[in-house]
Amino acid sequence: MDLKINNLHKKYSNGVYALNDVSLTINTGMFGLLGPNGAGKSSLMRTLATLQDADSGSVMLGDIDVLKEKEKVREVLGYLPQEFGVYPRTSATELLDYMAMIKGFSNKAERNEIVNNLLAKVNLYDVRKKAVSSFSGGMRQRFGIAQCLIGNPRLVIVDEPTAGLDPGERNRFYNILSEIGEQVIVILSTHIVQDVRELCTQMAIMDKGKVLFSGNTDDALYSIKGKVWERSIAKHELPEYQGKYKVISNKLVGGKPLIHVFSETLPGDNFTRAEENLEDVFFAKIGELA
Ligand code: ADP
Repeated sequence: MDLKINNLHKKYSNGVYALNDVSLTINTGMFGLLGPNGAGKSSLMRTLATLQDADSGSVMLGDIDVLKEKEKVREVLGYLPQEFGVYPRTSATELLDYMAMIKGFSNKAERNEIVNNLLAKVNLYDVRKKAVSSFSGGMRQRFGIAQCLIGNPRLVIVDEPTAGLDPGERNRFYNILSEIGEQVIVILSTHIVQDVRELCTQMAIMDKGKVLFSGNTDDALYSIKGKVWERSIAKHELPEYQGKYKVISNKLVGGKPLIHVFSETLPGDNFTRAEENLEDVFFAKIGELA
């Protein structure tokens, strides 16, 4: 089953154009939607999750018209919003059981099985009797994934799920997500390049409401191949280089900035060719350089 988004537009009443002619085709597997804060990712996720209307355009999930047949979408949707909201002092088991009940699982024995399986899947079974309010950020996100998998959704949307997680938790979260992505469409919206690099084969880059790139991650790298150059400079030289070149990133290596610049040809000044990475693609695209 495919998700086909065509010419989606959304302008908020304050005049912000959050979705400006967004078109994407998304297949089964992990799809990374990468963009800086304010790019329009959440607006798109909320629209796909039937929580917000678009001004125009169409979205088809298989043969379901997402913008019109909201109930049908909700039956096959798992959604982990950016803000999951209030975490009550209820135990993980009780809260998940309650959520399964709301989703229509009225048989207690069946619900027990669903809840226990999901808690095991996200590695929270051992702490199932603890209050969700006492969970760490990473545990809450894993709980969020468990609730979004109730009822075996065919479309799973996770909005900025790894923000604020430590590396260990991020890895645990990645493992759970990649397992899910083998069978269903998973859309992962994020401003963290590492999320997409590690998990997704298909991706899009969005900024200011527009899709700047969509395709597979190899194509993304290919689009800037041979156009990224690097050199190490002194800290005080950074403004000068930023004025002279299209600097797409600078990070400290051994206390000195290692800059990556975007240029069709060798920029001179002792630059050498850099091995291009997804971060370069991201900054090159959002800087409208490539
Ligand atoms: P992202 O998820 O990529 O950070 P958003 O979709 O949240 O982006 O926001 C896109 C743009 O729309 C931003 O400029 C944001 O300030 C604006 N925006 C988001 N929600 C609303 C809203 N309800 N009303 C007005 N402007 C909004």
